[in-house]
Amino acid sequence: MRVEYREGLYLPDLDVWLDAEGPRERCVISHAHSDHIAEHQSIIATPETARLFRHRCGEAEVTTQVYGERRDYGRYALTFYPAGHCLGSAQILIEADGERLVYTGDIKLRPNVTAEQAVVVPCETLVMESTFGDPLYKFPPDVATNDRLYAAVDRALSDDRVPVVLAYALGKSQEALELLLRRGYRVSLHGSVWNVTEIYRELGVKFSGEYEKYERTRLRGRVLIAPPGCRKQPMIQNIERRYVIMLTGWALHKSAPYMYKGVDLILPFSDHADFDDLVRLARESQARRIITMHGAPKFAAILRDLGFNAEYLAQHSDATLPLFEQQVQSPMSKVEDSDLHIDFRD
Ligand SMILES: [Zn+2]
Repeated sequence: MRVEYREGLYLPDLDVWLDAEGPRERCVISHAHSDHIAEHQSIIATPETARLFRHRCGEAEVTTQVYGERRDYGRYALTFYPAGHCLGSAQILIEADGERLVYTGDIKLRPNVTAEQAVVVPCETLVMESTFGDPLYKFPPDVATNDRLYAAVDRALSDDRVPVVLAYALGKSQEALELLLRRGYRVSLHGSVWNVTEIYRELGVKFSGEYEKYERTRLRGRVLIAPPGCRKQPMIQNIERRYVIMLTGWALHKSAPYMYKGVDLILPFSDHADFDDLVRLARESQARRIITMHGAPKFAAILRDLGFNAEYLAQHSDATLPLFEQQVQSPMSKVEDSDLHIDFRD
């Protein structure tokens, strides 16, 4: 099966679009983050992603499939498997002409307290994200990061400060909320986080306690969760005694303190697989061909050194460009992107 990346993943032999970045007649959606959706005419998605898609993009013709349900679309069959990235996030298995191709979308292999546990799906061709495909990004054990979060929140509260936790409105905010509720903290949510959290509840996610919608006059003794894009806005700037904690895998990048000015603590808490888990995913998929995307080209080279048949799939704007044209993308440019697109469009 040929695979192309032209403002989204495209399978030309089947005329199938996956996570297209612009409107299409029909598109398969892996999850509802804004860099994976657009105002399509019709979509194929899990029921959870379809609901979150409606919240963010409005109405569309929707075909839903639950995890593990295999459906025939004529020239190919399609099945979704959990990706552990946010609620409803899916890896997409396409079967055609005796070949199994899996597109991971964004994936997190570690347990996610508010999303389905990811699985590794055996396939011949694996198209995988590689956001943290650099040995620099080996995340510490979750329990260690959570303990650092709890200790920082305790310190801030006992110092009569407002702990402000910065996390994407969809996915990471709900993970942080549940982890904080499990420790009995009172939590206040920025409006965009509140809206998504209410949809999580509607979709059956049970949180370990009550939470409140943000009110300026009711912050004392509470933890505030807000999207990262808010950190320079009056809502947070006007909290005189604040302690700002950013949750991001980029915490391990040496430039992180400069990128996140005004943040007191940056914790390596991510909704993506770290380097070791990406390599494990490549190995356990048993894929004969691995195509990496959404990350640095060097991850494919690292996989080749480890004995995998791997190529980096670059965005190609011109049909005459070779399929695997190398294109350098700075990981920190993605930090800016995710701040901008994921948070402000919410
Ligand atoms: Zn995502």
